[in-house]
Amino acid sequence: YPDREAVELRTSLASYLGHELTAERVWAANGSNEVMQQVLQAFGGPGRTAVSFAPTYSMYPEYARNTHTRWVAGRRRDDFGLDVDAALALIATERPDVVILTSPNNPTGTALDPAHTRAILEAAPGVVVVDEAYAEFRRDGTPSALELLDEFPRLLVTRTMSKAFALAGGRLGYVAADAAI
Ligand SMILES: *Cc1c(COP(=O)(O)O)cnc(C)c1O
Repeated sequence: YPDREAVELRTSLASYLGHELTAERVWAANGSNEVMQQVLQAFGGPGRTAVSFAPTYSMYPEYARNTHTRWVAGRRRDDFGLDVDAALALIATERPDVVILTSPNNPTGTALDPAHTRAILEAAPGVVVVDEAYAEFRRDGTPSALELLDEFPRLLVTRTMSKAFALAGGRLGYVAADAAI
């Protein structure tokens, strides 16, 4: 059997991400699809709610269905930016266990404003996943949510080898978070 904890791989991924991350704060799985499923298995599930903001990655509702997590989709603005006031209002009403944000977003390419990410992290009662599958394509000067990890222990940042590295067939996705997560 391979090393189930994939320590060598997680050490390499942590060093690629930087931000003084270590293997204990990085988890790798069979594509970031499996990471997202594991997140919903752990923090979603029957009687729990996940929220995201459409249009966004079409697979999220499938992961929610597969884990019996209630799915609530808010809307983005007409320019596909996040409507942060509407997002905060939805979070206040739904009290979601999981919030999924995508930056840059698929299919719109819109990056999150870091002030909006921070506002949502401060308001969300559960975990907040920032899906950075396209992080390597973000414009210069657009920060990664990795910068917020030390401040927010309920933040998870997911990445993948499938897009910038064109290694979708390798099925390697990963997440950086607090070691407890
Ligand atoms: C492609 C994609 C993923 C999933 O990629 P994996 O191949 O499972 O790692 C996750 N999120 C977004 C936004 C994507 O575009």
